[in-house]
Amino acid sequence: MPANLVFDQQMMRRCIELAASAKKSGNSPVGCVITLETEILAEAGELCPAGRNPFAHAEILVVAAAMEAAGREKLPLATLYTTNEPCFLCSFAIRESRIGRVVFSVVTPEIGGATSRYPILSARDLARWGAPPRIEQGLLADEYDKTRREQGED
Ligand SMILES: [Zn+2]
Repeated sequence: MPANLVFDQQMMRRCIELAASAKKSGNSPVGCVITLETEILAEAGELCPAGRNPFAHAEILVVAAAMEAAGREKLPLATLYTTNEPCFLCSFAIRESRIGRVVFSVVTPEIGGATSRYPILSARDLARWGAPPRIEQGLLADEYDKTRREQGED
C-alpha cells in the first residue's frame, strides 16, 4: 500500500474518531483534520446543533484553527480531511483559504459542495478563487458508515 494512502487512512480514522465524539456530545457526527505535509495543523469535531452556533461546522472550525496555526490565510499546500462532503458554508471557507486538496468519506446529499447541483467546492468558473482543490471522495466510507450505524445514525 502506498505510504500516502496509509497516511490518508490514518487521518480519516482520526476524523471518524472526532465525529464519534461530536455525536456523543449531541452534535452532528462530523470530524475534520487539516494537515501540512505529515503534520496535523488543526482538528475538530462538529459543534452544532448542540452548541447552538449554526456556523460551528467541523470544517469551519478547522480552517480557522489551521490559519491561526500556520500564521497565514492561504493554505494551498494543505490537505483537509473530513468525514462528510463539505457543505456550501464549509466549501466557501475552503475556497477562500485556497486549501489545495480535500479528502472526504461520504457524500452530503443536497448541500454538498462537490456532488450537489451547486458545486461551490469544485467550480472552476469563479475567478476570485482560481483553480479548485483536488477532491477525493469515498475514503473509508464503509468504515465510517459502520460507525454511524453503530451509533444509531440514520
Ligand atoms: Zn459545513
